[in-house]
Amino acid sequence: MTAVSPPTPTSSAQLRDLVQEILAADSLPPIVQAGHPVLRQHAAAFEGQITVGELAQLTDLMRRVMHEAPGVGLAAPQIGIPLQLAVLEDQYDVDPESAAVRHRTPLEFMAILNPRYTPVGDGTAAFFEGCLSLRGLQAVVVRHQQVSLQFEAPDGRARVEEFEGWQARIVQHETDHLHGTLYVDRAELRSLSSNAEYAANWAEPGIDRARAALGFLSGNP
Ligand code: ZN
Repeated sequence: MTAVSPPTPTSSAQLRDLVQEILAADSLPPIVQAGHPVLRQHAAAFEGQITVGELAQLTDLMRRVMHEAPGVGLAAPQIGIPLQLAVLEDQYDVDPESAAVRHRTPLEFMAILNPRYTPVGDGTAAFFEGCLSLRGLQAVVVRHQQVSLQFEAPDGRARVEEFEGWQARIVQHETDHLHGTLYVDRAELRSLSSNAEYAANWAEPGIDRARAALGFLSGNP
């Protein structure tokens, strides 16, 4: 069982200072890497610590950092802000066979606040994934195939949406960040691969060859 992340010690005033500092900077903030405590804290729920205007600017900035990376999701702790805010977007061109196997369909840009997910059904999917805060690595994570996400939209409205396949994977990965959980906490560690080894050996739609050769998930996932 995953350990409980400590709540962030950052006060509302400090949080607002952090956001204003990042918004005032001339360049995009760096992406925080594993080992930084902010990635292991339970981020503060958004409850008006920053203004609507600051939230809009922060969301836009996070979108630019995500595009620059490039990635399909970014959580505020990944730029050092322990706030329950994440951005998601997946509009990259992907190989059709891989997209079909992974149930990967385009996800339009969205920002989510205070999210929580619950599985829908008991289906799971096992694929390699990576994280912008663990550069150079990938590992197989078994995740729920379908989830229901409760969150607040930036306009303050409470929403519930269902996600399936790769979109569900992105939603789970980013929501986990806001609770201090990294994908490696849930990964099949024997699958852990450098990007170079992944590209050389396992860059294919499914994980069957990797599973046999590296020796993980020996039963059915
Ligand atoms: Zn990540």
